[in-house]
Amino acid sequence: MKDEKMKVVSLYPPALLVLSGKKYIVPMWQQVPMETELSDIDWSRPESKQLEVDPIIKQGFVTGSTGNEYFVKLHKSGKAECECWGYRRHKKDCKHIKGFRNEKL
Ligand SMILES: [Zn+2]
Repeated sequence: MKDEKMKVVSLYPPALLVLSGKKYIVPMWQQVPMETELSDIDWSRPESKQLEVDPIIKQGFVTGSTGNEYFVKLHKSGKAECECWGYRRHKKDCKHIKGFRNEKL
């Protein structure tokens, strides 16, 4: 009986796997002693930062070079979205987003 539990932080419950005579905790592939059992593991989920909302700090229409208007949104994290074809295809800042960022807030 071990006096200390092994702390494991992962999104999914860990499992024990024996490979080439060695025992691992998956999914993190951490090697553990052969006598380790699941009851020796103290499993917890990581604190979720993914679920935090990313508020929009600025949004509005930007007029493109062809005269079309595109709706651009800037998020607090620095992410931006534009509805133009270029942004949707490449998923990176287009000229509308760049122009929008350079405007004063
Ligand atoms: Zn755009």
